[in-house]
Amino acid sequence: MTDVTVLQGSCLCGGVRFEVTGPFERVVQCHCSNCKKISGGAGTVSGRAQTDAIRVVAGEELVRTFQPAEGTAKTFCAECGSNLFGGGWPASEHTSVRLSALDSPFTDKPTAHFYVRSVAPWETLPDDGAERFDVHRT
Ligand SMILES: [Zn+2]
Ligand SMILES: [Zn+2]
Repeated sequence: MTDVTVLQGSCLCGGVRFEVTGPFERVVQCHCSNCKKISGGAGTVSGRAQTDAIRVVAGEELVRTFQPAEGTAKTFCAECGSNLFGGGWPASEHTSVRLSALDSPFTDKPTAHFYVRSVAPWETLPDDGAERFDVHRT
């Protein structure tokens, strides 16, 4: 892909707004237990970007990052709790941008399912042809 597009994103309350310069390097759905806790659902769907490609344009004072005991730091809005980034933003080289936070039209589908071993009994793994990984791609 050669298209360079700027995607806009925000949290539920609108306090935090960000931009990410695309395209994403990949789009992945993660089914791990951490992603379930923070998403309130079956996990997170994220686009992988260079951390440098992300710019918080409003509400920087509302942005909080939580470092769980295991896994990478997760970033959310302190006001509404919306999950925004994973993967260790802002210190990491790459950041996982939650597609749920995007406002710009975006149609790419996940090409991989990570942490398939953590799929919950109440969760149905879609038969979408995307590669499946017990943990994640190494
Ligand atoms: Zn918010
Ligand atoms: Zn995860």
